[in-house]
Amino acid sequence: MSRRLPVLQDGPASSLNKDGSRNYVHPADVSGRFTRIRWVVFAVLMVIYLILPLIQIGGRPAVFLDIEHRRFFLFGGSFNAQDFWLVFFLLTGIAFVLIVVTTLWGRVWCGYACPQTVFLEGVYRRIERLVEGPRNARLKRNAGPWNGDKIWRKVAKHALFVLFSLFFSHFFLSYFVSLPSLLDMMQRSPSEHPQAFGWMAAMSLVLYGNFAWFREQLCLIICPYGRLQSTLTDRDTLVIGYDVARGEPRGKKSKDEKLGDCVDCARCVQVCPTGIDIRNGLQLECIGCAACVDACDEVMTKLKRPTGLVRYDSQRRFDDASIKPKLLRPRLFIYVAVFLAWVVGMVFALRSHEPFAANLLRPPGGTPFVVEDGLVRNTVQVHLVNKTDHTVTYRIEPVENDAVSFEYVVPTPEVSLDGGADRHVPVIVRLPTSEVRRGLQVRLRVRAEDADQPIDLSATFLGPLASGE
Ligand code: SF4
Ligand code: SF4
Repeated sequence: MSRRLPVLQDGPASSLNKDGSRNYVHPADVSGRFTRIRWVVFAVLMVIYLILPLIQIGGRPAVFLDIEHRRFFLFGGSFNAQDFWLVFFLLTGIAFVLIVVTTLWGRVWCGYACPQTVFLEGVYRRIERLVEGPRNARLKRNAGPWNGDKIWRKVAKHALFVLFSLFFSHFFLSYFVSLPSLLDMMQRSPSEHPQAFGWMAAMSLVLYGNFAWFREQLCLIICPYGRLQSTLTDRDTLVIGYDVARGEPRGKKSKDEKLGDCVDCARCVQVCPTGIDIRNGLQLECIGCAACVDACDEVMTKLKRPTGLVRYDSQRRFDDASIKPKLLRPRLFIYVAVFLAWVVGMVFALRSHEPFAANLLRPPGGTPFVVEDGLVRNTVQVHLVNKTDHTVTYRIEPVENDAVSFEYVVPTPEVSLDGGADRHVPVIVRLPTSEVRRGLQVRLRVRAEDADQPIDLSATFLGPLASGE
C-alpha cells in the first residue's frame, strides 16, 4: 500500500513555543558524510567571499561594484550604469539555475550554499559551540541562574559575534569601495567618510542581529525561496525524508513487539538547525541540511541496522522504494528549452555590449534652431561614455548627406576620456534655409581607438518649414 508523507507538522512552528514565545533552537553536534561535505563547501565559499576583493584582474579587483562612480568591474569586464539592463540576464540566469537545481535536488542550495547557512552554521554556531559547549551544556546553563560562568561565556560569545560581524561587514564594504580605499578609510576618522561608515555600521548590526538572535527565523519567516518549494519541486525531486514504512511503529525494541526501525531516540530532531522533526514529513522549515540523515545513520550503524531510515530520496520512492528514481520529467524539458532561449539572449546581449556609449542629445534649455544670414543652425551634443577602465580617445566625424549641403562644425573632433568618464561634446550643423524640409537627418559617426565598430548617430534637423510642408 502506498503511504504518502504527511506534508505539515502538528503543533506550532518549530521556532515558536506553544505560548508563542521564541523557541531558541540549540542543534546538537553531528558528524557524518554529509556534514563533512558541507564543511568543505562552507570553507570554499567562505574563501571565495573573502578573496574576491583581493584578486586583481586587469588591474582591478575581480568584483568591484563602484556605485559612487556607477562603474562595475566583474572578472575583467567593465560595465557602467548604461549596462544595467544586463542585470536582467544575470538575475534571470541565477533564478533559472536555482529553479533547475531545486527541481532536481530540492533545497540543496539552502542546506549547503546559502550565505545564511554558510555563516550561521560555519561561523556563528561554531563560536557558540566553542564558548558555551555542546547542546546539553548550553541548555542546562541557559535554564540555570546567572552566575560568573554563565556571564563570562555570554559576554565572550557576543563579543566574538560583534567582532566577526565587523570583520565580515568590512569585507562586504570592500566590494563597493575597493580594498585599498577601505584600508585608507579605516585609518581615518569616520567623520571623513560618514556614508561608508554608516553602511558598515548598519551591515554589522544586521549581521549581528541576524546571526546572534534571528537565525533560522530568516529562513522560516522572511526568505521567499522556501515558500516556493511546493511549486518548484515534484514527487520525483530529491528531498530529505523519513522512511515511514520502515521506521513505524517507532519505539524502543522489546522482545514481544513488532516495531519499526526508528527507536525514537530523537537524535534527528536534536541536530536539526530549524528544530523540526523530519518524521512528521516534508516541511517548509526543512532547509535540506542533511544533519538528520547523518544523525540517524549514526544511530542505525550503532544498532547494526541498515542506514538510510532518514535519507535523500524522492517522495515517490518514500511511498514505494521499488520504483526507480526518475531524473527526466516533462518540466525539465521545458526548463532546457527556456535555458536555450536564455543562452541565445545572453550571447546576443554580450555581443552587443560596446566598450563605449554615444548618444546624440539636444542641449537642455536651448532653442531648437536659430535662423541667421540665410542659414538655419542646430546645435546638438554628442554624449560620450567611456565604459572601460582606461583612457580612450574618440573621434567624432560627420557623415555626409548627398541630398543636402549640411555644414558641420565639430570644435573638438578628438576627445580623450579617462576610464569610466563621460562628456558632452557640442556639434553645430548649418543648412541654407531654402534646403530645409521635413525629415532631414543630421548624421555623425563616433570611433573609439580601441573598438572595431563605430557608433552611428542621427537626429532630425529642425528648422522653419516652407508653407504647405
Ligand atoms: S529536517 Fe533534517 S534536513 Fe531538514 S533542516 Fe532539519 S536536520 Fe536539516
Ligand atoms: S534519529 Fe533515526 S532512529 Fe532516532 S528518532 Fe530519528 S529517525 Fe528515529
